[in-house]
Formats: sequence, structure tokens, C-alpha cells
Amino acid sequence: MALTAQQLDRHKRHILLKEIGGPGVQKLLGASVSIVGAGALGGPCAMYLAAAGVGRIELWDADTVDVSNLQRQVQFTTADTGKSKIRQLAERLKAASPDCEITEQLARWGEEETLAGHILIDATDNFETRFALNRVAHASGRYLVSGAAMGWAGQVSVFASGVEKGAPCYQCFVPETPPDAEACEDAGVVGPVTGIVASHMALETLKLVTGAGRPLIGQVLLLDGLTGISRSVRLNQDTDCPVCGA
Ligand SMILES: [Zn+2]
Repeated sequence: MALTAQQLDRHKRHILLKEIGGPGVQKLLGASVSIVGAGALGGPCAMYLAAAGVGRIELWDADTVDVSNLQRQVQFTTADTGKSKIRQLAERLKAASPDCEITEQLARWGEEETLAGHILIDATDNFETRFALNRVAHASGRYLVSGAAMGWAGQVSVFASGVEKGAPCYQCFVPETPPDAEACEDAGVVGPVTGIVASHMALETLKLVTGAGRPLIGQVLLLDGLTGISRSVRLNQDTDCPVCGA
């Protein structure tokens, strides 16, 4: 379907890029993603994807906005305190991008629940859900865009074990729940670091949809907010991995 005059205007800055162009914007308009978690990673990631014209965004989160979220979850305002994260985020996304179809799932996603998106985005804060999302992505042959932030550090990767032969999955990277996992969930985190990770997750999703550049498959991007230096490390498939191993 041809882009309307309004869409040409709205997406002009993407259309001007040779790696995206009109065809890339059309792919974005036809794309669907599931974002699990509407907090510090899922919120800004969803905002960039809606602004980029992603046609359908499914959001999962059971939480309400707490005043302690506002230090980093910039999609919310003080007036949102006590309200559903999903409801408030969906309003924000629709206001920014009226064509974007938002599915609001006001629940904590569980492995038995179907995810509608063609690309899965892990914006959760617990290992149980991360492992479950990884299993679903692998079994259903979908890309999993994954990000995490703690303290001053962040990491981003794309797991494609169900899509590309030999590509590692999340569990090749994190074989089991780390012993300090519970402490991680309550640890401090710098607001802008979560924003950088969330933006990287949106960027990787945009690349997967449009085919631009090279996604972070088999690579983990590590960000250090204290030094301002980021680097990527290679990640190989673990042949003994319980999810994707031979
Ligand atoms: Zn694996």
C-alpha cells in the first residue's frame, strides 16, 4: 500500500535514509511487536517504535505506576501514579502515533500465554520471565530483542536461535539464574542508562524490521555509564544449551 501524504510527511526523516526509505517505512507500518514489560526499558522502547510507525504493538505488564518509577520511566508523569502502566503508556503511544494499533495486556505475561508480535522484546526485570520468553522465541522461530540495565551498566542483544542456524539464544548467554538475582531486582540504576538500553532495543527492532545494517545477533553490547565506553563481545551458541543446543 502506498504511503499517504501525511505518512510521507511524518516519516520523512526515515524516508531520507537510504537504508530505510519508503519501503522500510512500509515494513514498519506492517510490523507487529510484543513488548513484555512497560517500565524503564519497555516504555521508551515502545515510544520510539510507535513514533517510527510500527503498526501493531502488544504491551504486557501488570504493574501500576509508583512514584519511585518516575526517576527513569520517563513515559509517565506524576499524575499517572497509582494508575496502570499499560493504560498510561498506551495513551501516550496513541497520542504520539494515532495509526499505531496497541493491544493492552494488563497482566504479567506467562509462558502459557500467546504473544501476538512477530518480534518479541524482553523488557522485563526477572530471570524467570527472561528464560520463558527465550524458550517461546526459540520454539516459535521469532527474534528476541533483549536488554537489561543495572547500576551504571547496560547490555543489549538480539537472540535468533529459532531463526538462524547456529545463532545463540539467551540461555547460551545466561545458562541459569545468577545467585545474586534477587539483589539485582532491588538494586539501584541510573535513569539515563535505562534510556540508552531502551533506545538500543528500539534500534535493533527497527533494523530487524527494515533489514538495515547488521543486528546484534551473536553479539552482546555492553555499556558502561561511568566511563561512557561501550563495547561488544562475541557470543557463541552453547552446544549443551537446554533450549537451542544440538
Ligand atoms: Zn541456547
